Amino acid sequence: MSEKKQSVAIVGSGLAGLTAARLLADDPAGRYDVHIYEIGPTPSFAAASLSLPHPSGHTEPVDIPMRALSAGYYDRVFALYRRFGVQFRKLDFLFAFTRQDSSGSYFIHASGNHRFPPKPTGKSWLSHLWDLLCVALVYAWYAACLQYFPPHVAETHGTTESLRQYTERVWLPTWFTADFLLPLLSSVTTCPHETLLEYPAVDFAGYKTRTAGKGHYVVDGGVGNIQSRLMYGIPTTFNAMVTSITHLPSGKIELSWKNTKSGEEHLETVDKVILAINPSVIARIYPTLAPQMEKIPCLDLEVVAHTDESLINLMPASGGESGALLEGKMSIRAAAALEPNEAHIVQLRTTTVPTSGHMSSRILRGGKQPREELSHITESTHIHNPTNVFFTTIPLSPIDSSLESSRAKFTRVLRTAESRSIVNSIFHGERREKEWKNGDGGVWLCGGWCWDGMVLLEGCVVSAEEVARGLGVVVPN
Ligand SMILES: Cc1cc2nc3c(=O)[nH]c(=O)nc-3n(C[C@H](O)[C@H](O)[C@H](O)COP(=O)(O)OP(=O)(O)OC[C@H]3O[C@@H](n4cnc5c(N)ncnc54)[C@H](O)[C@@H]3O)c2cc1C
Repeated sequence: MSEKKQSVAIVGSGLAGLTAARLLADDPAGRYDVHIYEIGPTPSFAAASLSLPHPSGHTEPVDIPMRALSAGYYDRVFALYRRFGVQFRKLDFLFAFTRQDSSGSYFIHASGNHRFPPKPTGKSWLSHLWDLLCVALVYAWYAACLQYFPPHVAETHGTTESLRQYTERVWLPTWFTADFLLPLLSSVTTCPHETLLEYPAVDFAGYKTRTAGKGHYVVDGGVGNIQSRLMYGIPTTFNAMVTSITHLPSGKIELSWKNTKSGEEHLETVDKVILAINPSVIARIYPTLAPQMEKIPCLDLEVVAHTDESLINLMPASGGESGALLEGKMSIRAAAALEPNEAHIVQLRTTTVPTSGHMSSRILRGGKQPREELSHITESTHIHNPTNVFFTTIPLSPIDSSLESSRAKFTRVLRTAESRSIVNSIFHGERREKEWKNGDGGVWLCGGWCWDGMVLLEGCVVSAEEVARGLGVVVPN
């Protein structure tokens, strides 16, 4: 080989950074020397995953967060995982909608319509069927609106409509938005309802259209499987907090980083930098992009693994037949242990709304509720089957520390009409004077948030592949 290899520093070892690293390291023309810098002591994609005891005696790897993929939305993630021979497992979910101060659920949704929605405990069949009818009718209206009256986007209407504006424009009843739509969408976006209402409505239209009626999948054996394959043979420095990126007169880039254990500071000079980190960190370390990055909101949150049943509002019980948790006939943990192949239960517990009673009575009262009713948070607890551990995202009430197995912190990048326009201008927009575009000055961005869609794993792979293409690497199909 005649040409000298280009040095590429990749900051962050989440799925985006690892995918970009693998693609460049595997460049058939061998043009890149790749090095990953990660602030944590281990690669971050599977850093919070746990190995939990399985009732049959072996240990079960469990990903935190769940890293679930919904068929239809994750074409590039599935393609990447398949290339590395990773197997998937289908998971069905029963989303049990509850309120913080009341026991039992008021509605249960079966993911991908894999079964008839179970009747919540304490509800009469008449009330259950009435609620199902109301929810089904409004849901059909919502689905039809998304198709025939799609949300406005800046490209065609000058401004991008928020979910709040859209639900009002298409007269979605407030009870449906507050009690059903927002808690369910919160389980995907893990943010408070107020924040969710500021998301571009078009994000949900795309997600819903592509995933409707399709199943959820997780990586068999956990995402550690794909992580080790992605970073195989690639030099990585852990405990390395990158603190600044500076352009040198030579055209090269100076990367400053600090060893978080020893406190030692280091300088590296490289040809290219790929920032696979969230916008708030980019704003701090790369001042060129600070004005744009500061406008992209981020939310710090926690996922706690525990066995504290006080967070579970589903009906308590006394022993009985299998699969009966949601009917209130058996204990939560016994139900999880008995049915290893059954749907996993996800309890969606929303902070209390001012009015009480079941959905049907609220519908009968006319449906219109005051706006403040929407300013709530939905805590999501995955009752893991069959390990009997609960995974609670954004806990609403204290968890008994003696029942905690782990507590992991994450930063979620949020979406707004403004952040969508910034992201689209960086990654897709026409080149206008003074507007920074991805790759300018040898600095590239990738991450779950670096595409025009929901901030999920698909964005990581799509954006990492874009970076690779931008650097002349052919991306396998
Ligand atoms: C609770 C929760 C549940 C989720 N569930 C799902 C799901 O089920 N399905 C799905 O598709 N998506 C899910 N997501 C979203 C998805 O996990 C993220 O979009 C994705 O992991 C983002 O990956 P990334 O590579 O862009 O960034 P990250 O995973 O955030 O990786 C960036 C890494 O860079 C490192 N870093 C930060 N600063 C520095 C620095 N200064 N120097 C060096 N290193 C640094 C950090 O260790 C960080 O982990 C969930 C997110 C959360 C928070």
